[in-house]
Amino acid sequence: MADLSQNYDVLVIGAGNAALCAAITARRGGASVLVLECAPRDFRGGNSRHTRNIRYAHESATDYVTGPYPVEEYWDDLLRVTAGKTNEKLARMVLEQSVYAVDWMMQQGVRFQPPLKGTLGLARTNAFFFGGGKGMMNSFYLTAEKLGVEILYEAEVSDLTLDDGRFVNARLRYGGREHNVPARALVVAAGGFEANIEWLKEVWGEAAENFLIRGTPYNKGRLLRVLLDHGAQPVSEADQCHATPIDARSPKFDGGIATRVDCVIYSIMVNKHGARFHDEGEDIWPKRYAIWGRLVAKQPDQIAYAIIDSKCLELFMPTIFPPFEAPTIKELAEKLELEPKPLEKTVAKFNSAVQPGAFDAARLDGCHTKGLTPEKTNWARKIDTPPFYGYPLRPGITFTYLGVEVDEKARVLFGVNKKPADNIFAAGEVMAGNVLGQGYTAGIGLLIGNVFGRIAGEEAARRAVN
Ligand SMILES: Cc1cc2nc3c(=O)[nH]c(=O)nc-3n(C[C@H](O)[C@H](O)[C@H](O)COP(=O)(O)OP(=O)(O)OC[C@H]3O[C@@H](n4cnc5c(N)ncnc54)[C@H](O)[C@@H]3O)c2cc1C
Repeated sequence: MADLSQNYDVLVIGAGNAALCAAITARRGGASVLVLECAPRDFRGGNSRHTRNIRYAHESATDYVTGPYPVEEYWDDLLRVTAGKTNEKLARMVLEQSVYAVDWMMQQGVRFQPPLKGTLGLARTNAFFFGGGKGMMNSFYLTAEKLGVEILYEAEVSDLTLDDGRFVNARLRYGGREHNVPARALVVAAGGFEANIEWLKEVWGEAAENFLIRGTPYNKGRLLRVLLDHGAQPVSEADQCHATPIDARSPKFDGGIATRVDCVIYSIMVNKHGARFHDEGEDIWPKRYAIWGRLVAKQPDQIAYAIIDSKCLELFMPTIFPPFEAPTIKELAEKLELEPKPLEKTVAKFNSAVQPGAFDAARLDGCHTKGLTPEKTNWARKIDTPPFYGYPLRPGITFTYLGVEVDEKARVLFGVNKKPADNIFAAGEVMAGNVLGQGYTAGIGLLIGNVFGRIAGEEAARRAVN
């Protein structure tokens, strides 16, 4: 049982991937470590417990990836998805360090699966955990506990006392009482603010009420706000986030990976007025799934509908909620509570604009429409084979990118002069915006937490023990 009157060397706030990477490394570096997590033990693991894979650079195939995936290709991918909104020095450091990530995780007990096939086609680049994110996190917890890391659950940090940029203590609510917990160094790994609907509303207005949060309800950005209020430099923007369309019937929080619907590229996507609004066939799904959440967020009432016919049903990952099904488009519209006439008109117009071509679900097949706004540029096939199916979709917010700026030692930068903090470090979502100014490439979220978590843990231990 943690002793809150003890002066720990390193205090870690949060208990997801980044936090545990930091805690384990700090402990191995000789520091006494206390981890404070606001969720109950049964819900531990933050967003990290929902994950499945990590993207890392490697020179050749391994037991877990078909490879190769060189650092330079990873860098090109990152540059493309962020459109250059990344700190090159930090980003390159993360990608170069990624080479060691999987071995390090295995040393902490994490197990991986043979390369997986699936709609996202990640077998070459991403290693999948055996037992998913929960398995990964349970291995981290076990290792941390064996090493003597103390973990307190239901321990919510509400404030930090800093003295001229130095961490002094953390204000904590635990066991129905308030505590001030001092430590020689602090690692903040308490996630983004995606579960804070009020904060999302500051950015998105009332529309945010209709967002669904794919991960933990506990990432409310409290520590992000506290650091920013103390003068930490912000990085990325409050409206930048990873968001993907998920089934509108999903729970408000914590629906996880199973709620995603991957049929968009084979569908027509319509808003509540039955109108299309974006090229569904722009690119393969792994390169587009992260933009569709934002596209749906911009539609009236933040809802959209994917419409397909029976030809498409087997082409994508089975969904957790069954699609609405009907023998005609009119009846499908009625089931989806849409006006039938506009949807019938949109489908008819779409069908007559489809050009002849050889449909191929596995590649950019060039099957396109002609004469529509917007056109569909790949996988355009007539929606003409009953039964017809529809999924109602809402923006599923995965995580936000606004964070605190850090240097290559994971030190938080304070003030307009960007002075590195003496003993305050950050890792994971709370600083991911340094690398991800916008956009996303699957599996990099965990990598950022892994690399910066280990650096933060090492530096915090060095700072505390010396
Ligand atoms: C459904 C889903 C699937 C995903 N799949 C992948 C994937 O396959 N690969 C990938 O790389 N990324 C994936 N991601 C993104 C990934 O989850 C994040 O990038 C990563 O887990 C962030 O780790 P973290 O340690 O920074 O945050 P988290 O794991 O969210 O941990 C933050 C912790 O801080 C705690 N906390 C918050 N505030 C306080 C406070 N005031 N006091 C105490 N504790 C606090 C929270 O309870 C939480 O446990 C996915 C995300 C979701 C939602």
